[in-house]
Amino acid sequence: MARIDIDDIGPRLAAPWLPTPLTRLDPSVDPDRLGGVHVWIKRDDLTGPAGGGNKARKLAYLLADARRQGAAAIVTVGAAQSNHCRMTAAMGAAAGFEVHLVLAGDKPDELTGNQRLSALLGAQLHFSGADDRHWGELEIQAEIVVDQLRADGVEVYRIPVGGSTPTGCCGYVAGFIELMQQCHSLGVSPTAVLHASSSGGTHAGLLAGSAAWRTLGHDTPAIVGVGVARGVIGGLPDIAELANATLQLAGLPGTVSDDDVMVDGRWIGDDYAVPSTTGDAAIVWAARNAGLILDRTYSGKGFAGLLGGLDEREWTAGQEVVFIHTGGLPAVFAPNGSPVG
Ligand SMILES: *Cc1c(COP(=O)(O)O)cnc(C)c1O
Repeated sequence: MARIDIDDIGPRLAAPWLPTPLTRLDPSVDPDRLGGVHVWIKRDDLTGPAGGGNKARKLAYLLADARRQGAAAIVTVGAAQSNHCRMTAAMGAAAGFEVHLVLAGDKPDELTGNQRLSALLGAQLHFSGADDRHWGELEIQAEIVVDQLRADGVEVYRIPVGGSTPTGCCGYVAGFIELMQQCHSLGVSPTAVLHASSSGGTHAGLLAGSAAWRTLGHDTPAIVGVGVARGVIGGLPDIAELANATLQLAGLPGTVSDDDVMVDGRWIGDDYAVPSTTGDAAIVWAARNAGLILDRTYSGKGFAGLLGGLDEREWTAGQEVVFIHTGGLPAVFAPNGSPVG
């Protein structure tokens, strides 16, 4: 099999636990619903210490870049229960950085879920009072924190929402190659790869990896981002542009066109970070039929996209589909974090 060497994609920290497992849903559990489709779960909820999730792959490249630039502090932003912020706190601590997190919302009486972990990991939490859905406001608040640190003579590395820069996206170029090599050794040829998408970096990285993989003559699956934030459903960021910038940065061949970018916008419900009926039903199904824990903002809605495709018989018996479990478990322990209990 022609290969791309993951080590050639760029410098990264060795922190994430890779490769993550690729496991198949038991075909004897709810066979009517599976309809003979082979459903594989790429366990990117198990990428690392402190709860894991898709952000670990991006942060491996982002923090290596921060170190190369001589930064001492990392400043990033996120929703109140940001998994990205929690993983930045964890991997930042392990790499010796001072970590500042600008979060949506006000300081609660008691820290829970991801916030509790971020504080335990030693990050400084800056509560912005901003709405969970107004990422632009968070970025403005982050600039104030950056200015203060710089005024104190601290070298700062700034990571935007979700870590979705070309550097961060390299994590999912590597993630795609890892998945294809795993599929090859298991004799699996997926028709589609689905995942929850919000800041677009996971999607762009996977598409970049897929474009590079195609240049080696391999078949590639459709890559479907199940939109869980309004921006990504409305075309922000431009996924093809981000993917092509990532290919350029990684020095890889291939091009991603707009036609390659598939976003399923039907599963967001009312809005980002607002629980949805289909997402909640997917969380309960996954827990009780697969022992998987999904969250209400991301992976639950993403899995609703997978179940929706199965219910609509989008794939035929014998076809293989991969769902990337992007994580989110700590949010289950935040108030209102689960449809049950
Ligand atoms: C951030 C996140 C996503 C979305 O990934 P993007 O690269 O920002 O689109 C999906 N699932 C979980 C659990 C996340 O934390």
